[in-house]
Amino acid sequence: MNLILIAPPAAGKGTLASMLNEKYGLVCISAGELLRGVDPSTELGQMIREIQARRELVDDKITNALMKERLMKDDIQKGFILDGYPRRMEQVIAVNEITKELNLKIDYAVLLNVDYETGLKRTIGRQICPVCKKTYNKLTGVNAPKVENMCDDCNVELTTRNDDTEEAYKAGYERYQVNCAPVIEYYRNQGMLIEIDGSGTAENTLNQLEKIIKEEKND
Ligand SMILES: [Zn+2]
Repeated sequence: MNLILIAPPAAGKGTLASMLNEKYGLVCISAGELLRGVDPSTELGQMIREIQARRELVDDKITNALMKERLMKDDIQKGFILDGYPRRMEQVIAVNEITKELNLKIDYAVLLNVDYETGLKRTIGRQICPVCKKTYNKLTGVNAPKVENMCDDCNVELTTRNDDTEEAYKAGYERYQVNCAPVIEYYRNQGMLIEIDGSGTAENTLNQLEKIIKEEKND
């Protein structure tokens, strides 16, 4: 089964992708990782790093080419999940061309919803242990440290990431809404969209997805 995963920031996209990988062997293909994975000693790798350092978007041509190359590898036989791609209509058109050319089929586009407030709490409440890298959250009630601001295991003070701010979250959320709205609409019109609620636990999110896919297959 081949999926496209669409979600606002902090919806739990990465967690869902890794659960689908563990349970079903679906390979997660992240556009961001593909870009970061280009050898920095090459001209292309150098160029990508410069663009990202300026916090600008890498040209679609590059992302599309990397995507195509990735989808030609034979580890995707059990299926794949596209993460962070396609994010704009231009990329949707590219995905359609690439999959057609490689004789692949996207089964569903999964929209993992989370409301603004929940995503915000997940972001600004996030705390990380500098030693074991375990993450906690002081605002959501899930994964709170036993002792405030301290790692349960290492007994050291927890830290936060610089970009876990309300401003950064808000900007990401707005960018998502503007760019992804037409993408979501497109897959809805194609009858390919599955909508699930990511505001609960990771298990709950996976259960919803499994249930809907099962029903779709029985139709
Ligand atoms: Zn720790």
